[in-house]
Amino acid sequence: MTADCIVIGSGIIGSFSALALHERGLQVAVADRGGLAPGTSRSSDGNLLCSDKSVGPMLELSRRSLDLWERFATHYGNRCEYDPKGSTVVARGQEQAAALAEHVTTHREAGIDCEFVDSDWHRLEPHLGPDTTAVGHWPADAQVQPMLACYQIARTLKDGGVPYRFYEEITALEPDGDGVTVAFSGGERWRAGHVVLATGVWSNELLAPLNLEIPVRPRKGHICVLERGDVTVNSKIADFGYNATTEDTSGDESTVQTAAIIEATRSGTILCGSSREFAGFDRGVNTDTLRRIMADCIGIVPDLARLRVMRAYAGLRPFSLDGLPIVGPVDVGGRVIVATGHEGAGHGLAPVTAELVAACVADGDSHPYGGVLHPGRFRT
Ligand SMILES: Cc1cc2nc3c(=O)[nH]c(=O)nc-3n(C[C@H](O)[C@H](O)[C@H](O)COP(=O)(O)OP(=O)(O)OC[C@H]3O[C@@H](n4cnc5c(N)ncnc54)[C@H](O)[C@@H]3O)c2cc1C
Repeated sequence: MTADCIVIGSGIIGSFSALALHERGLQVAVADRGGLAPGTSRSSDGNLLCSDKSVGPMLELSRRSLDLWERFATHYGNRCEYDPKGSTVVARGQEQAAALAEHVTTHREAGIDCEFVDSDWHRLEPHLGPDTTAVGHWPADAQVQPMLACYQIARTLKDGGVPYRFYEEITALEPDGDGVTVAFSGGERWRAGHVVLATGVWSNELLAPLNLEIPVRPRKGHICVLERGDVTVNSKIADFGYNATTEDTSGDESTVQTAAIIEATRSGTILCGSSREFAGFDRGVNTDTLRRIMADCIGIVPDLARLRVMRAYAGLRPFSLDGLPIVGPVDVGGRVIVATGHEGAGHGLAPVTAELVAACVADGDSHPYGGVLHPGRFRT
């Protein structure tokens, strides 16, 4: 098999990257050692957010990516429960309210549509608890069903003739001046002009033998799924403290951080998250962490205490050392393009990442965020 580009990994980053390359007229093939999106992408809540980003490159990327999500749903049809339902960030106490007001002001100055609401917030979210002091509202933030997004893209690409190879591991990459040979565990070898490594927290398994490691580590997170009930959650509701946990790049091994983030799904269940910890590659569910998550969420929306937890799961966010995604070529010839390090924003940032990946493959080493996201920034 030969192709212009082989995308390794069928999670949300690999899926959107393959779509962007296909849209550019390149011959693409996708491979994953599991089925479709068996990694972190199936553990996400699917929030597409600007509200939790400070002003800077992550906010800029998120805003661009939200526009691209809307374009995707309009152009290909909305079969992934894409819903621009907005998000509501909750402050408890005067100190938090002042910090939230400041956050809203900086976002508005950056051109983001949002408002600070210090009274009558029950018109937005009727079940917010008595500790609420003020809320911030971001009407353009959105949500998707994370797996349906991967399925929709796979269906589109398969209809367009893109081959998918599942349940066989890629064991080696052999880049040279003209392209890359990809070796499968069964002995088959594929050849392409470029390889996109959308392999999330497992990226270094293929990069280490080439001495091309990147600083990406698994940061575990848990989600509880609550049964359907009479508690209305209109938008994505988050504790203002959640922002600090998403942007924390200290790499602290000793703590499990939790902060409330709550949203309803199309089926009526409610997702309650979330936690952050460094626990290696362990994806086991820890009941103490679930208890802490539920206590946090009930602190924001007390009526959630009426609902039972149906199930819970954990996944591994691809954490990068400086909190920014790692997108671009890693080998001397520029044939192996990595796309990972999105931590808790891989769904949000997938379309904009795919644009950058496609630019790297089609145009060589340069892309609009070159210095900021380029893997070479970590080399001394
Ligand atoms: C609890 C939790 C909540 C989250 N909530 C959100 C959210 O609300 N919004 C948001 O934007 N993000 C969220 N995220 C983050 C998001 O899920 C990730 O950033 C995103 O899924 C990363 O996607 P990916 O495609 O890079 O990785 P993955 O989905 O992990 O895909 C990597 C793929 O590579 C394959 N692979 C690896 N090695 C090989 C190999 N050698 N050969 C073949 N295949 C290989 C794997 O099988 C896997 O399918 C959340 C994450 C967690 C854990």
